[in-house]
Amino acid sequence: MKTIKMDDIKKEFPAGMEPLGKSVFHFRCAPDVECYMSCCRKLDLILYPHDIIRLKNRLSISSEDFMRSHTRLGPSSHPFFPAVMLLMSENEDQTCPFLNNKGCTVYEDRPSACRTYPLERAVDRNPSRGRLQEFYFMTKHPYCLGHEEAKEWTVRTWLKDQKVQQYNAANDLWAEIDTLFAGNPWQGEGVGGPRQQMAFMVCYNIDGFRKFFMENKLIDQFKLESSLRRTLDVDDEALLKFGFEWLKHILAGTGSLKLK
Ligand code: SF4
Ligand code: SF4
Repeated sequence: MKTIKMDDIKKEFPAGMEPLGKSVFHFRCAPDVECYMSCCRKLDLILYPHDIIRLKNRLSISSEDFMRSHTRLGPSSHPFFPAVMLLMSENEDQTCPFLNNKGCTVYEDRPSACRTYPLERAVDRNPSRGRLQEFYFMTKHPYCLGHEEAKEWTVRTWLKDQKVQQYNAANDLWAEIDTLFAGNPWQGEGVGGPRQQMAFMVCYNIDGFRKFFMENKLIDQFKLESSLRRTLDVDDEALLKFGFEWLKHILAGTGSLKLK
């Protein structure tokens, strides 16, 4: 396996963007910081499939209802599959719908972007470099006074404190699927055709996919561990993972699923 030194990789980032590595940064976000809650408004906040599962379960509503009431479509990094964005409230400040006068009402289940902020994550997926590598960059908005606080962090301690790892693991699986979508796997149906709609349901409407999964007895079509078979009935995360593998199977003939 070819080994790429950090310096070689850094050369590929745009000028002015330096990965944080192990360096220390200052940040604190809390009710006593003057700008508290000023950032939760007018956001172009992308929601990933895992974010939607966490939020719809937090709100105790179906994924279909969540999509209808809390999201809009937006442009993604390629033309073959849209991004899903959180719909801001229709008030003057266009606040996040989960913001109240005390703060974030879904804090334990807040989306990946809110959780990782003020860091941004970039992932190197070049297969020639072997294992996926991640890099973190600092985002600074002039209104955010958290950077002036004394509390010190490294990337590692920040990610642990914000419980980002589970989100990253789920988002990496999603990114693999989105890379498949970026190759236009719709086989002449075009964007918005039946295959793309099916893929959209798997990724963003897990309750709809569960219904489809059961009605079409997908569980009986593949060789699956009995422990997984039991989990798929009740666990949205497990079903999403299965759904991603199923999409690889039907769209590209790849993935880990084996037909019976
Ligand atoms: S989900 Fe919470 S942290 Fe994220 S923008 Fe909304 S209120 Fe702010
Ligand atoms: S602007 Fe920065 S410090 Fe202020 S509430 Fe938002 S993230 Fe926290």
